[in-house]
Amino acid sequence: MPFAEVAVNSAAPHRQTFTYSLPNGLSVAVGQAVYVPFGSRTLQGVVMEVTEEPRFPETRDIIAVVEGPPLLSPERAALARWISEHYLAPLFDCVALMLPPGFRRKPLTLLRPLASGEEIAGLELTPRQRQVLEALAGRREVEADELRQELGLRTLGAVVDQLAGRGLVERSYELGPPKVRAKVVPHVRLLAALDAARAEVAGDLLDSASGARVRARREPMLAALNALAEEGPLLPLTKLRAQTGISVAGLRALVERGLVALEDVEVERDPLADLEVSPRDAPLLTATQEAAYGEIAVALERRNGEAAPVFLLHGVTGSGKTEVYLRALERTVALGRRAIVLVPEISLTPQTVRRFAERFTGQVAVAHSGLSLGQQFDQWRGIRDGHYAVVVGARSAIFAPQPDLGLIVVDEEHEWTYKQEEPAPRYHARAAAEKLAELTGAVLVLGSATPDLESYHRARAGRYRLLALPERVQPSGEGAARVCTVRPLPEVEVVDLRRELKEGNRGIFSRSLGRAVAEALAAGEQVILFLNRRGAASFVQCRDCGHVPVCSACAVSLTYHAAEERLVCHHCHRGRRLPERCPQCQSARIRFLGIGTQKVEEEAGRAFPGARLLRWDRDVTRQRGSHERILTRFLAHEADILIGTQMVAKGLDIPAVTLVGVISADVGLNLPDFRSGERSFQLLEQVAGRAGRGPRGGRVIIQTYPPNHYAVEAAARHDYAGFYEHEASLRRRLGYPPFGRLARLIFAHTNPLYAQEQALRLAKTLRREKDVQGIPHLDILGPAPSFVPKMRGRHRWQILLRGGDPGELLRELSFPQGWTVDVDPVSLL
Ligand code: ADP
Ligand code: ZN
Ligand code: ZN
Repeated sequence: MPFAEVAVNSAAPHRQTFTYSLPNGLSVAVGQAVYVPFGSRTLQGVVMEVTEEPRFPETRDIIAVVEGPPLLSPERAALARWISEHYLAPLFDCVALMLPPGFRRKPLTLLRPLASGEEIAGLELTPRQRQVLEALAGRREVEADELRQELGLRTLGAVVDQLAGRGLVERSYELGPPKVRAKVVPHVRLLAALDAARAEVAGDLLDSASGARVRARREPMLAALNALAEEGPLLPLTKLRAQTGISVAGLRALVERGLVALEDVEVERDPLADLEVSPRDAPLLTATQEAAYGEIAVALERRNGEAAPVFLLHGVTGSGKTEVYLRALERTVALGRRAIVLVPEISLTPQTVRRFAERFTGQVAVAHSGLSLGQQFDQWRGIRDGHYAVVVGARSAIFAPQPDLGLIVVDEEHEWTYKQEEPAPRYHARAAAEKLAELTGAVLVLGSATPDLESYHRARAGRYRLLALPERVQPSGEGAARVCTVRPLPEVEVVDLRRELKEGNRGIFSRSLGRAVAEALAAGEQVILFLNRRGAASFVQCRDCGHVPVCSACAVSLTYHAAEERLVCHHCHRGRRLPERCPQCQSARIRFLGIGTQKVEEEAGRAFPGARLLRWDRDVTRQRGSHERILTRFLAHEADILIGTQMVAKGLDIPAVTLVGVISADVGLNLPDFRSGERSFQLLEQVAGRAGRGPRGGRVIIQTYPPNHYAVEAAARHDYAGFYEHEASLRRRLGYPPFGRLARLIFAHTNPLYAQEQALRLAKTLRREKDVQGIPHLDILGPAPSFVPKMRGRHRWQILLRGGDPGELLRELSFPQGWTVDVDPVSLL
């Protein structure tokens, strides 16, 4: 007799499956949705495995199998398991990533009174019990959560237990309604031949006694028949009514005569319905693009059974990576396979989607969180049914049920938004993509101008195959006549702010940047001023020598706590008093903190009167669509200077921008995260990529206090390899990724003392467990307050594990409520 291992949608966070038997006649496959008994409830589940032997001696029967094809392929079931194990996340949460949107239904508890109002009056009851019974009296059935809210009674569960025990209340369980269903729209279908139908309507009316009224109905009826014959035979009811003015009675008359029928038709809520796309031919690839594409094509065409390689396409900004993806996608489709393309959420603009849709007209699905639940639901089903050659989407699109997967592309693979941070599962879409590719045999292409250090390290070690596009392309001409020449990367100048200060310039624009902006404006060109604002007020820097105090154990900058005038390490919690003088040069100007975008806007207004300014940061872009609006305005040259934070660095392609000024590289360099050097390099390189996309070329000016920081120097030379060498040697020394793994445990609580106590207690437990289990290569750092010590009213403390597989220590532990576990975190901020 077969048994099923089922991932159960229960409130408790399990990582294991539960074993169920199959009643006679019932058969299930992996990935099928089922209903199972769980305690006294019936819950949803998904079959993860079918076995001959039970894993658990006492099993209960599956209650029912949901009809229809399995919701997960076996590969995706395996992927869900891997995510659960790797990221230490509840199994059903991992399964749910891949289920149709809105699948999860809330388990409800229904309460039914068994005693009437009069009976209650005579009973001996506690005040709480009486309150509940009185609220139930006279009602047929009430949902427990509703009643809990109604009465504001936290302990409702316990009270109901007592009442049920005395036979005064009956409980039953069911699932809440599905959140989304297929959308059906009433349609009208023509059943008869047009001539016959027209004759019948016309004749009918002739011998009708009630002449005038019926005759008035005739024209719309005939018009409706004509419309159905011409555009039909099936048309949406609302459309037909609007077009022909046919009345309900007229329609009923046609139905009664059997000339037309009403039908419900499932329609797809298509998020691309409004996107105008005209098909476009592929341009000729340059020789370098062709070489890269060629290697991918060979992998796509490889014989069955050979493992699929992972490619790392390292191409500078504007080198034509997307063109290579498009060609590889075409090859994939020609081979009868399908693909998933991941792009960062912020790049998932209509422009991006259009680029794919132009080449695969009608065959592109988009998946991202901005879609309505109905659209997501419909896209999921359309994708599952094989309607799309290419799924383009942000992080979670990796879980689209795309069949026959032949190719996965992860564009801008270094983007840390590919890591899900909240809620669990805290998966990395790139890692999930790698696993899925391995499971399905799909070829994986990771692309970036500034690859993640870890990806590049794998390429160096031979695990990935490196493909390089070292030069920018310069397209010209249109259509088949499009040609490409090579174009240099922009010149980068690094300005030493210490010298500016010494020579009497106290403003935020160095003389060099000021001059360059003025020149660009005079020439009618556009300028981007970039500022890294995150954590701007957090570190302390000497204005004379650029020195920033750093923790010697963790190699991250110390964070300034104004209230106590202390500098604190957010990894290990070591701290010291804020020094009066710079330890390096004895200067007293050590308290310099960062600047914000508003300040830059003010100063730019003063320094360049007459220039039209546009600010782009989180404060002004909270509303949906504001990204698009700002971008469109700048593209239309309605502003001369765009001032912004991280967002301006990503993927903007504005030919009239000839100058990019980085107001200060230092904020990014000094965040207390071991990745701050890497992030700064990436950001500077990306932001520099915004300059000189047009025929006039471009330049970049980076202002900084320590101009000899390796990340700044490497960015100025566009020297990825040089940056990698330096950064990798630092990481190796301290055992940071890719030379070790990390996990971050955070405890958050409204009471600061309690938060600290809990963190101390867990750290102690972890240290003891580590010794008991004899796990050698794992440092336990902290606890320390998080870089953001208080979030949404909760005080946050963190513990870092650094070294080997954090799962070794954490897998068997159960964490008290309030803890979050982030395995392989991409940010320690
Ligand atoms: P990346 O993805 O590396 O930033 P893109 O693929 O967006 O680069 O290419 C930059 C620009 O050059 C785009 O406008 C693209 O259409 C164009 N382009 C890329 N390759 C070619 C080619 N072989 N022929 C003509 N135009 C090209
Ligand atoms: Zn100094
Ligand atoms: Zn430290």
